[in-house]
Amino acid sequence: MSSEEADVLIVGGGLIGSSIAWRLAQQGQRVTMVDAGNLGGEASTAGAGMLAPASEAAKQSPWLELGVRSLRLYPKFLEELQSETGREVECRMCGCLYLDPGADADRLEALHRTAGVRVERRDEALFYPEEGVIDPGALLRSLRHAGEKRGVRVEHQLLSEVKATEYRAVVIAAGAWSGSIPVFAEDGPLPLPKSEPVKGHLIGFHMRPGLLPSFLRKDRTYVLQRADGLVIAGTTEEHVGFDTSVQMASCDELHRRAADVVPELAAAEPVRRWIGFRPGPEHDDGPVLRRVDDSNVWMAYGHYRNGILLTPVTAEIMASQIAAALA
Ligand SMILES: Cc1cc2nc3c(=O)[nH]c(=O)nc-3n(C[C@H](O)[C@H](O)[C@H](O)COP(=O)(O)OP(=O)(O)OC[C@H]3O[C@@H](n4cnc5c(N)ncnc54)[C@H](O)[C@@H]3O)c2cc1C
Repeated sequence: MSSEEADVLIVGGGLIGSSIAWRLAQQGQRVTMVDAGNLGGEASTAGAGMLAPASEAAKQSPWLELGVRSLRLYPKFLEELQSETGREVECRMCGCLYLDPGADADRLEALHRTAGVRVERRDEALFYPEEGVIDPGALLRSLRHAGEKRGVRVEHQLLSEVKATEYRAVVIAAGAWSGSIPVFAEDGPLPLPKSEPVKGHLIGFHMRPGLLPSFLRKDRTYVLQRADGLVIAGTTEEHVGFDTSVQMASCDELHRRAADVVPELAAAEPVRRWIGFRPGPEHDDGPVLRRVDDSNVWMAYGHYRNGILLTPVTAEIMASQIAAALA
C-alpha cells in the first residue's frame, strides 16, 4: 500500500468499499482498496440478498427513506455495471409477500405508502411488488471487475492502523470491524463511531426452480429463492461478538420457522448452513455516511441488515462527498 500510487485509500472490499471504489475510479480518482481477506468474504457474500426497504421497516426511519431511494437507483446501477463488465447480475424484482401482519396491517400499509412504496392488500397479506432479490456474491464480483477495469488497485492486507496523512482521502468501509480500526489524521487519532457485529445464521435448500415466485416474510422469518433453485431462509440476530461457529440448534430452529412459511421445506434437508456479521451501527438511525469532522477521512459503515439494498445509494453519496472535497 503506497500513497505514491493512490489518491484515495478504501479500507474494506465488501459491497460498500467496492462500490465506492468503482464510483471514485469512474471520476478519475486513483484508488487503492485494501481488504483483510478474500475480498468480500464477509457480510457481503453471506447476506441473503433481499432488496426490501419497506418490508424490512416497521417504523419511519432513515433506513426506510434511504432504502426506497436506493431501490430506485438499482435498475440504472445494474445496467451501468453490466455495460462496463459485460456480466449480468442475477436480480429479480419479484415482490415480497408479507404474511399475517395481523393488527399491524393498516399501520404498515399507511407508513409504506407515505414513504412512496407500492403496497397491495392480498387477503391476510401485504404485497410489495417493487421489492426484489439479488445475488450479492455476483454483484460483488461485478463491482470488483468494474473497479479493476477502471484502474482500482486491490491489496490483501489486514490493516492494524490507518495513517490518513498519506492519502488525499481515506474511506473506512470495513463493515462490522470499522469502528475498531485506529485511524490517525494530522492532529492524532480520530474518534470513530463504534460498529458492532450482529451475527446472523442462514440455511439453504436445493428446491425446484420457480417454487417461490416472490419472496416471503412472516414475523422474523424470510424465505427467498435464487434462479438456480437455491432457497435461502433467515435469520437470527445474535450479539455474541465475532463468534464464527455455526450452531446446529439455531439452524434447526430456523428450519422449523422456514417450514411454517413454506411447508415444502419441512421434508427438505438443508444443503448449506452459514453465518455472517452484520455491521451494526452505534445508534439505530441508519448507516454512518459522512466525513470525520474536517479531516480527510470518510466513514461508510453500519449498514446492518440493509447493506446490499443500500449499496447504490451509499456509493452515490460517498463519491459525491469525496469528489466535492477533492475538487
Ligand atoms: C445473515 C445476513 C443476512 C443479510 N441479508 C441481507 C439482505 O437480505 N439484504 C440486505 O440489504 N442486506 C443484508 N445483510 C446485510 C449486508 O450483508 C451488509 O449490511 C453488507 O454486506 C455490509 O457490507 P460491507 O461492505 O459494509 O461489509 P463487509 O461485507 O463485511 O465487508 C467489510 C470488509 O472489510 C474487511 N476488513 C475488516 N477489517 C479490516 C482491516 N482491519 N483491514 C483490511 N480490511 C478489513 C473485511 O475483510 C471485509 O471484507 C445481511 C447480512 C447478514 C449477515
